[in-house]
Amino acid sequence: MATQDIAVVIPVFNEEGNINAIVEKLEMVFRGLPEINYKIIFVDDGSVDSSLPLIMKLCQQNPRLFYISLSRNFGKDNAIIAGLQSVKADAAISMDADLQHPPDLIREMVKCWQEGYEVVYAFRKDKNKHARFLTRLRSYLFYKAINAFSDVKLENGISDFKLLDKKVVEIINKLPEERPFLRALVKWVGFKQKGLEYEPIARHSGSTKYTLENLIKLATQGLTSFSTKPLTLAIYLGFFFSATSLLYFPYVMLSLYFHWQRTGSGWASVIVSIVFFGGLQLIILGIIGLYLGKTFTQGKNRPRYIIGTSNIENEKKFFTVVISMNLISCVPEYAEFPLT
Ligand code: UDP
Ligand code: MG
Repeated sequence: MATQDIAVVIPVFNEEGNINAIVEKLEMVFRGLPEINYKIIFVDDGSVDSSLPLIMKLCQQNPRLFYISLSRNFGKDNAIIAGLQSVKADAAISMDADLQHPPDLIREMVKCWQEGYEVVYAFRKDKNKHARFLTRLRSYLFYKAINAFSDVKLENGISDFKLLDKKVVEIINKLPEERPFLRALVKWVGFKQKGLEYEPIARHSGSTKYTLENLIKLATQGLTSFSTKPLTLAIYLGFFFSATSLLYFPYVMLSLYFHWQRTGSGWASVIVSIVFFGGLQLIILGIIGLYLGKTFTQGKNRPRYIIGTSNIENEKKFFTVVISMNLISCVPEYAEFPLT
């Protein structure tokens, strides 16, 4: 079988304790896949620990290792995209640096790809024994919310551990999403996809980078990127509450007529309805604002990430000038100057 090139893209945000371990583990896995010519691209997402110096050192020793260092923290999805955009291989694999994505699954992923699947994604088994109850509940609610509202269906526990064929990578790279939600985008592009279940393992070193706040951000990003259903929900809510408040109107008229209430009473119900409907309006305005904010940020057309340094040879654009003419052979001699 002819050799095939695979690039493993690993986003790194303060993972100094995991870099050596993941390189070793990947080397072991690919030793069992001699037909695969692999390389590992670390995308440093603005780490403040010693991850980057460590990666740079390893890159000097190992020709299979590459790095891209982003100028600051741009978030995991953008870091993966930065890696994918530099990939020149037949397929790319994205995985976390903390070894929670079992590298051994790569063998099966590659097998599925060689059988013709263009996307092979991994999702966690339901029982994530290593996560605390609250973390599991958070994750469960996260996927429930996404699936309830968005048009793309995600398996509970679907991860960013996936293998993408070259043509899928090319398409993902061209999508102009300002805040890509990769898990759903990969599902959305279609092609022949296969999901593989995996047993999550405990983090090798360090702690999770996702706080509750990050997860809420990710969920709203997921919802608003893939569905306009929340806007429709806002309209339904608006209708529902205006209809119920209309029912209140005949009650007020009748109570006036039959003197059910003495003058001066009703203060509580007025306040309650003002607060209630004020809140409802704010919720609806907020939902609309979320979408408006998205078009605003997208409209600015800013790059999704900025590369600080990298050892990946970009196709540098050169301009060539004839600097002299060899008079004997009549062959011009050129010099190349980088454009940037
Ligand atoms: N990560 C990143 N940028 C961030 C947050 C996380 O590149 O802003 C990387 C992190 O280094 C790891 C992967 O994304 O390789 C998953 O992060 P983590 O393990 O904290 O997430 P969890 O497994 O808890 O969902
Ligand atoms: Mg993790």
